[in-house]
Amino acid sequence: MWIDTHCHLDAPEFDADRDAVRQQARAAGVGLCVLPAVQRSDWPGLQALAMRHRDGYALGIHPLYVPQADEGDLLALDAALNEARDDPRLVAVGEIGLDFFVPELCTPDMRERQWHFYVAQLALAQKHSLPVILHVRRSADGLLKGLRHAGVAGGIAHAFNGSVQQAQAFIGLGFALGFGGAMTFERATALRALACRLPLEALVLETDAPDIPPQWVYRTAEARAKGLAQGRNAPAELPRIAQVLAELRGVGLPALAQATSRNAQRVLPRLEALS
Ligand SMILES: [Zn+2]
Repeated sequence: MWIDTHCHLDAPEFDADRDAVRQQARAAGVGLCVLPAVQRSDWPGLQALAMRHRDGYALGIHPLYVPQADEGDLLALDAALNEARDDPRLVAVGEIGLDFFVPELCTPDMRERQWHFYVAQLALAQKHSLPVILHVRRSADGLLKGLRHAGVAGGIAHAFNGSVQQAQAFIGLGFALGFGGAMTFERATALRALACRLPLEALVLETDAPDIPPQWVYRTAEARAKGLAQGRNAPAELPRIAQVLAELRGVGLPALAQATSRNAQRVLPRLEALS
């Protein structure tokens, strides 16, 4: 069985065929998806969706949604985590983190605001004894600094694309690193080298659907200029993404499925009861 540890199944891109998308993934062997949240108004829908498909979910405020979030959202997160404390499907606080790629999020004010929401959500994860799902984009060192202060019990650094040193620092803090569609491109040589070099125990698989399309779904700028829409990633792509990792590492698919699922259950312990 495969676990897609990061899938935005509640995204509007799936409005027309959400249930079919989840069924296709199940038919492809993806037994479990983890649905991370991006903003407060989506939390109830996300919880209902996880319930309907017997998946796991996380609650949190994504860094890209920090500009429109306020202090009331942090209070609401505390209350929602409290309310869901006996819900076995609540597996983490997320998706939280820092994004220093998007220019509007890099002004001094926005950096400070992102930091405030990140640290506050780490404190909530600690308070509620939950791991975290981290959004890492040009922000690994800042994220690590926050983690060292908060003493959070691990989780997943999603769509990881940093250095070996940064990867090892996350691993040392009880994190697994999420690998997905970005690794399927031959030109992603640094990321592929990292996916080979890290211990198998540190890796989990993810699609980040509908985003980060793998190479066979991705449409080039040239194709898009001709009017084709960017390809939509889906959780059913996970086994084929896994095949790329299996070939890179020279490991069999069943062994990779077993190892990555076990890793996911180790860093998000509540997944074990759902598997
Ligand atoms: Zn995400």
